[in-house]
Amino acid sequence: MIATGSEKCCSKKKKIKKNYTMSNFYCEYCGTKSSNISSLTANSCHRHPLGAGKGKHKLYEGSEKSQYSCKYCGTSSTALSSLTANSCHRHPNGTGKGKHSPAL
Ligand SMILES: [Zn+2]
Ligand SMILES: [Zn+2]
Repeated sequence: MIATGSEKCCSKKKKIKKNYTMSNFYCEYCGTKSSNISSLTANSCHRHPLGAGKGKHKLYEGSEKSQYSCKYCGTSSTALSSLTANSCHRHPNGTGKGKHSPAL
């Protein structure tokens, strides 16, 4: 019987949340966060304009902000993911034909 390690079941590392890390990259379509660009753009995006999974995440080239605004209508949100979750009434393709898109 090998029980090595079972005694250390409670050695959870405390996760330290940094509120102001500037090393995160976000998808412009869905707000998915990644610590590096290559892993972000390697995965398909569930909110890609061509359809869910029809393309990869696209790097949001703006800086990390405390609030993001839609470049079409000015709607603002504290998170990219919640901004891009909603339809934009001033989307260039037509009212509600697309999601809000963050201004850089
Ligand atoms: Zn995405
Ligand atoms: Zn909008």
